[in-house]
Amino acid sequence: MSLKLETKAIKAALGKIKFRTQAFINGKFTPSSSGKTYAAINPANGKKLADVAACEPADVNRAVAAARRSFESGAWSRMKPADRKKILLKFASLVEANAGEIALLDALNAGKPIVDCVNIDMPDTVNCLAWHAELIDKLYERTAPTSIENPTMIVREPIGVVGMIVPWNFPVQMTAWKIGPALAAGNSVVLKPAKQTPFSAIRLAELAAEAGIPAGVFNVIPGFGSVVGQAICRHMDVDMAAFTGSAEVGRELLRYSAESNLKRVILELGGKSPQVVLADAPDLDLVAANAANAAFWNMGENCSSGSRLIVHRSLKDALVKKLIGIVKDWKTGDPVDPDTRMGPMIEKSHGEKVMGYIETGKKEGAKLVYGGRRLLPDSGGFYIEATIFDEVKNSMKIAREEIFGPVLSVIPVKSDEEAVAVANDTNYGLAASLYSKDLSRAHRVARALRAGTVSVNCYSEGDVTTPFGGFKESGFFGRDKSIYAHEQYSELKTIWMQL
Ligand code: NAD
Repeated sequence: MSLKLETKAIKAALGKIKFRTQAFINGKFTPSSSGKTYAAINPANGKKLADVAACEPADVNRAVAAARRSFESGAWSRMKPADRKKILLKFASLVEANAGEIALLDALNAGKPIVDCVNIDMPDTVNCLAWHAELIDKLYERTAPTSIENPTMIVREPIGVVGMIVPWNFPVQMTAWKIGPALAAGNSVVLKPAKQTPFSAIRLAELAAEAGIPAGVFNVIPGFGSVVGQAICRHMDVDMAAFTGSAEVGRELLRYSAESNLKRVILELGGKSPQVVLADAPDLDLVAANAANAAFWNMGENCSSGSRLIVHRSLKDALVKKLIGIVKDWKTGDPVDPDTRMGPMIEKSHGEKVMGYIETGKKEGAKLVYGGRRLLPDSGGFYIEATIFDEVKNSMKIAREEIFGPVLSVIPVKSDEEAVAVANDTNYGLAASLYSKDLSRAHRVARALRAGTVSVNCYSEGDVTTPFGGFKESGFFGRDKSIYAHEQYSELKTIWMQL
């Protein structure tokens, strides 16, 4: 079902929405082994949506055992590539057929504007699943230049049981970025959605089973990170842990791997991404529109949020004025209202943390030129205005730490060299964008920026054909999307023969 972005259609769909609240293990819904539940909340109003299974290590053991059985049986891992492709394409089309419902689940559960869930997250999710499926029977393996007596094949094999941990800011999309390539490569998966946002991933597992993915290949275990997440990542029978989330928890995963079975670990972490506006930037209206999206889209709860606007001093005042002109028209409100551009923060504690950064910015001497207030305090949700600080120094806390909220730091610079130095003066390196009329100059700066994705004269993370991941503390060992993601879910094997 696609969802019409009209109040009447959304209301009707909301009336029919159903929350799947149990774990999905070995092709079946199941409560947690302890019977415990926790409340999943609607961030728009602070009210409970449903009680969800609070899984425990015993449930992780059940899911890993099911995943291992399915992997060893070969029912999926050794299925003919063309057949695996067919099932995954059916899965993608079932997700597409239910896109409206899944979009609503994420809007209700993550506080994401429905317009973004419908227009961005769901098309990207379906496309990601279908793209990795399509790749399966188009990849050739290699022979090595050995001798006629020693024919040698270099083949790729699925890794085995892959544990996956995803965050709350793009619940269904981050799930697809992980399971798309991992399932396509023939692995079995045990996925833990963020505690706050379990519903879309559970629904995906149900649709995967309906599409014909064998029992045990895709399991979803809702629950707490320190319990379920840790149990997955410390499990001796999990071969890989693929993680998207904070650098803080990412570090823990490396420890879990070292202290267990040296499972492979892929980390997609946070950012403090620069938007660099050189003195010859073309079309300031376009720059301002992109900069607003980069900083405030998804309320700034975005790993690649362009939270530092590093701009040549000659353009700064005009650009800031245009930016304010744009964001003042963004409607803040209930995410299921199709006119809403800014929803609530995911939860009160996170909203308070973001407000804390705003206070710190003021104390540090940055100039608050727009926003800075909590909005709609009677709603039960925690809404924060798009907030712009001018005359920020890159040494200030608001320019160094990932805020994960709608707070933009404007940092004036005097030259390209200074812009690059400031942009790179961060522990992170996920994304960057830059604006210049001169493509030679832009290319030089793009090569100098230390980030996994650099966008020139636009704000973009590329698409499913391009790898996404970070330099420095933004990532470790892996990439989401593209053929590189596909390959990282497989092991290289050499088969050496003596004739
Ligand atoms: P988080 O690190 O708090 O949680 C991420 C996931 O880890 C959740 O499922 C959580 O339950 C789980 N977790 C928490 N503690 C754990 C533990 N001890 N062991 C195992 N798992 C545990 O992050 P978050 O607040 O959900 O998401 C925001 C962060 O994610 C930001 O830093 C953001 O930049 C990052 N992020 C990165 C990307 C990317 O592609 N690089 C994409 C989206 C979000």
